Parts: sequence; C-alpha cells; structure tokens
Amino acid sequence: MPTNTVSRRAFLKTGTFAGAAAFVPVTGSAVRHVGPVAIASGNGRGCVAEAVRQMQAGADALDAVVAGVNLVEENPDDTSVGYGGLPNAEGVVQLDSAVMHGPTGRAGAVAALEGVMYPSRVALQVLRRTDHVLLVAEGAQAFARMHGFPIENLLTERAREVWVRWRENLSNRDDYLPPHGSEDRDLGRAMRRSYDHWGTIHCSAIDLTGNISSVTTTSGLAFKIPGRVGDSPIIGAGLYCDNDVGAAGSTGRGEANLESLASFLIVERMRAGDSPQDACLFACQRIADNTRLARLQNENGEPAFNVSFYALNKAGVVGGARIRGSGGRMAVADADGTRMVDLAYLYA
Ligand code: ASP
Repeated sequence: MPTNTVSRRAFLKTGTFAGAAAFVPVTGSAVRHVGPVAIASGNGRGCVAEAVRQMQAGADALDAVVAGVNLVEENPDDTSVGYGGLPNAEGVVQLDSAVMHGPTGRAGAVAALEGVMYPSRVALQVLRRTDHVLLVAEGAQAFARMHGFPIENLLTERAREVWVRWRENLSNRDDYLPPHGSEDRDLGRAMRRSYDHWGTIHCSAIDLTGNISSVTTTSGLAFKIPGRVGDSPIIGAGLYCDNDVGAAGSTGRGEANLESLASFLIVERMRAGDSPQDACLFACQRIADNTRLARLQNENGEPAFNVSFYALNKAGVVGGARIRGSGGRMAVADADGTRMVDLAYLYA
C-alpha cells in the first residue's frame, strides 16, 4: 500500500483518521461559533459571506443559503452552476438543485430543469408549495412557470463556444470539423478530455436560532447525456441536514456519490460522534472502497476521480475532505469574517 493512503485495517480498528495525520490540516480546520456560520465549496466565498450577512439580519438559514448560492447561479463566469453553466451533449443547459430545512426535516429538489436561472429557488418552492420532494425536466419547468419564474436562454456565448469545441473534437469519424489548416489530417478527439468538467456549489449554515439548512446547485457534468441527473439534487447524496446533528454536501463525480449516499453517511457519522472532517474522510474512504472497476481506478487501484465533502455540526465545528489531492479548500464565514479552510484528503 502506498504510504500516502489510510490503511483500511487501521481505519476500521480506530474508527478515526489519526493514522492519516499528514493529510489532515492541523490548523484552521475547525471553528466554533454557533450561529451564524456558513460553509460552502471552494467557489463559495461570496456565497458564505452573503449567507452570514442575511442571518445576522435575522434570516432563516434556508433563505440565507439560497440567497448565497443565487450569487453563483446568476454569475455568467461560473460555467458549472446556473446561468452560463456548460450544457449537455445537445447544447442544452440542464440544472439540478436541492434544498433541505433542518427545523422541519423537509426537502425540495429539481433535476434536469431547463431555462430557469435559479434552480435553488425552484427547489425551495417545491419544498414550500408542494407535498413532493423532487420534480424533474418538463414538470419542474412547468412548476417554475406556475410560480412566476421567467424561462430564459441560459446558454451564454462562452458556454456555447466551449460546447461547440467539444462537439467538433469528439470524434474524427463524424462530419463536424474543428478549426484546422490545409495541412492538418487527424481532426478530432485530441482535445476531448480537456473539456471534461465538473463544478457545483454546496452551502450549509446555522442561523442565529441554531437552525440548520443546506442547498446544492449545479449544471452538472458538462456534455452529459441529456436527462442525466447527478448527485446534487438527490437528498442524502448531494446534501443532507439534520437539525439535531449537522449538515453535509458534496461536489465532484456525482455517479460515485449516488452509489454511496455520502452526505447522509456523513451526518450519521457525526451523529455517532465523528468530527465533521473525520466524517467527510470516512465518506471518501467508503467511495474508494466502493470503486471496484478498473476504468475508474488509477494504476494504484485508487479512485481516478474526485469527490469533495463539506460538513458542519450543530456546535458550529466545520470540516471537509476530498478523495484526491492537497490544495482543496472550502469557504467558511461567521461573525469573525470569511476565510478559506483546507480540505483533508485520502490520496495525494
Ligand atoms: N456533483 C455534480 C454532478 O455530478 C458535479 C460537480 O460537483 O462538479 O452533477
């Protein structure tokens, strides 16, 4: 076993990640402030600042986290969420989002939603104005229209151009040609992998009254098969929250998370006493253990992909981890301000 991995036997024996100290940030991984506190994926610095600002003014955690991620959903420069998100294989932007409200235990979600810039707000309406949890595709859009959401073109010129380059380089056996010169022969495929693209924002928060809520929103995997739904809108996968315990959410390869329901797992590990960071590492290890197909592994048998988790507990302790690589960070904000906190990781 490479020295940079956590021994599964040691892990099962101790139930902690003490043996992986080199991969656990030694400082700055935890803060203790009970409300308001907000955490988000690394692209959520402005999001957590906005969520805390709203909660300081008395907002419920659920409204605050949705307001926070709205900043990213409406940002055309973020090509992984909302407006400007990279489209599916047919050039259509399809969005996934879910929200969960700790005090009531209710959830709402939308998947493969087209034409609505703020899928998190539609998920919030599913929670508040239906007896359901998840609406998809045309049904989700009809519901959004019913509640006054405008139906817009979400495909920015930037995202369209990236999609066209992907399409033209997908194969050298079709009739789409990337820009080329008169001497070029082998057109296509060469650039394909460089366009594989994930990205999402997750945000969870504790408000002034100690209530906890969560949201995750994404345009999902770029160039996905139309209709593909990732982990983000699936309660227990892309997010989970329990008002007595804490909350967790994810970004990264949704298929791996869907097969492990890791956000639910993280909350249950915190209920059993794990710190948020240890619970996130536990989920990373579970996904690694469940990754058995060679096409998903590197030469060391480790997952060749990444999934990141972000968690906070009822006491306001925060932490996160991802499967692969140092350098991962999460955004944290509380009454003391906003900062980035390192993620622990399983494999270098
Ligand atoms: N988890 C998202 C999905 O699989 C994508 C991401 O987080 O990058 O749809």
